[in-house]
Amino acid sequence: MPESVKGGLVLILFGAPGSGKGTQARLLQEKLQLPHIATGDMLRERMRRADEQGERIRGLLEAGNLVTDDLITEMLAERTAEADCSRGFLLDGYPRTVAQAEWIFQCLAGRGMGWVVIHLKVDYNEIIRRLAGRRTCVRCGPVFHQANQPPVYGSGGELCGKCGTSLIVREDDREGVIRHRLAAYDESTKPVLDWMTAQGVPFREVDGAGQSPEEIAQRIVAGAKFA
Ligand code: AMP
Repeated sequence: MPESVKGGLVLILFGAPGSGKGTQARLLQEKLQLPHIATGDMLRERMRRADEQGERIRGLLEAGNLVTDDLITEMLAERTAEADCSRGFLLDGYPRTVAQAEWIFQCLAGRGMGWVVIHLKVDYNEIIRRLAGRRTCVRCGPVFHQANQPPVYGSGGELCGKCGTSLIVREDDREGVIRHRLAAYDESTKPVLDWMTAQGVPFREVDGAGQSPEEIAQRIVAGAKFA
């Protein structure tokens, strides 16, 4: 494990796809001044290099399957060894399996870092509604929603309100794939909650629906004793 990260605080945002981990991480990044490490974004970036590994990652993501623990853990170990993570970071999308949970908590303890785990709970019907309406800007990053955060409508169709680029529907935000991602969550990721309970790793449940993203972020910060 890289030795360059000592001390600091890691906020782990845990929850099903579409539970708002990315939205919360983007809001909390500003409040806490910590970098946002999203494993899904790291994989999508890697996938754009259309080499053999990139194509393998694309196949897994577009089908709604998880990539292997070894691959994602190696990428995460490298990323979090960078200097901007030395005060801590916001982790969005990891751990997604018990093996990943075992690795991350051992790794953080070894680095002398503290952590807070937030479980964002959202009903699956709401998740399907959110993901199926989601539109993403591949150029500058923000996520829009047909109903909640509408894009700009122009001659090029749905456009990013920030940079004007045409928005896309992620391949894995199509309804059949969403259901597959939720099944993968039930099978591989939900058991992490039982594992944390059995290991005595505390986590806090936050209702991820019914309030605005800003209100949810405030609740996370207020309850998390970051001082
Ligand atoms: P996300 O953007 O977090 O919804 O992640 C998109 C996709 O990337 C997931 O559906 C998985 O295929 C893959 N992925 C992201 N994080 C992980 C992880 N920690 N372990 C395995 N696969 C992951």
